[in-house]
Amino acid sequence: MSVKFRKLALIGIGLIGSSIALAARRQGLAEVIAISTRKAETLEEARELGLGDLYTLDAAEAVRGADLVILCTPVGAYESVMQAIASSLAPGAILSDVGSVKQHVVNVLAPLVPAGVSLIPGHPIAGTEHSGPSAGFAELFAGRWCVLTPGPEVDAAQVEKLVQFWEAMGSHVETMEASHHDMVLAITSHIPHLVAYNIVGTVADLEAATQSEVIKFSASGFRDFTRIAASDPVMWRDVFLTNRDAVLEMLGRFSEDLSVLQRAVRTGDGPALEAMFTRTRAIRRSIISAGQETAAADFGRPHEATPPPTAPVFVREHGGGDDA
Ligand code: NAP
Repeated sequence: MSVKFRKLALIGIGLIGSSIALAARRQGLAEVIAISTRKAETLEEARELGLGDLYTLDAAEAVRGADLVILCTPVGAYESVMQAIASSLAPGAILSDVGSVKQHVVNVLAPLVPAGVSLIPGHPIAGTEHSGPSAGFAELFAGRWCVLTPGPEVDAAQVEKLVQFWEAMGSHVETMEASHHDMVLAITSHIPHLVAYNIVGTVADLEAATQSEVIKFSASGFRDFTRIAASDPVMWRDVFLTNRDAVLEMLGRFSEDLSVLQRAVRTGDGPALEAMFTRTRAIRRSIISAGQETAAADFGRPHEATPPPTAPVFVREHGGGDDA
């Protein structure tokens, strides 16, 4: 069975919105793709990239007659976007989103959803540190999980249509409660981002001489943190503002574990350190065998070929005038 929507409306057309537009177009998942965003220059960029069929700065116009509407803006913009579109949502439509937190989304959107519209929040667990319409690519969701958090009142047939939409774009789909999603993502995504922002922020505060050495010698652990810490500041501000409870809960556990490590380092407890690092290595291996990471060394980064050996240099004991 293949799903096809009459009109897909994407509100916000950055990395995730543009990737959905490209993947949905490639898989033939919508007859018409309508795109709306806040800034005229972003809309123009989307038009030049040919991401949709209709382009408008008026979100209400984009959603009119749409049977699938997906909010792809930062979560902090949802309330104002929803106020603008609520009265234009078509009966029978699915209203979804891609936000990285889910309970807050339900709290904000549910009271504004008109009767006859199915609210099915979603979160594709896929992304890069790049933003904007040109950052998107159709393969972004392939092999990645997408979590849907429909409430118990939502018609199962509507959920199934959205599941098929994401599966057609290459995702594996799982449904769960919004609060459970937020707890899981707090530890798998939000805390790692907070740690990365903190490590890179510490370097940013170091005195200039040390900082330049960190950057020069960054082909080690630090470099991989900088990729995460380069993620969109507005999106991540909103994640921490809207998933506060789950983040603080997990941060508490993280701090306790860090104290245990700190103590092991201070007391020179080699067996404790080795036991911990052996357990963490096993976790990475299980992520690789689940197909969620490459097993290639150094995250599969291309490396320059080793330069060919140079001819041996013979040093004259008595310098002559011809090789000066
Ligand atoms: P992005 O590249 O920065 O794009 C955000 C888009 O939203 C832009 O088109 C921006 O357009 C628009 N926008 C911002 N404020 C708006 C407003 N008030 N009204 C209408 N449009 C507005 O962000 P993204 O990475 O695609 O993230 C979008 C959503 O996906 C977020 O909720 C995020 O939590 C979620 N998500 C992100 C990732 C990731 O790795 N990046 C992964 C999974 C989920 P203008 O230029 O017109 O302002």
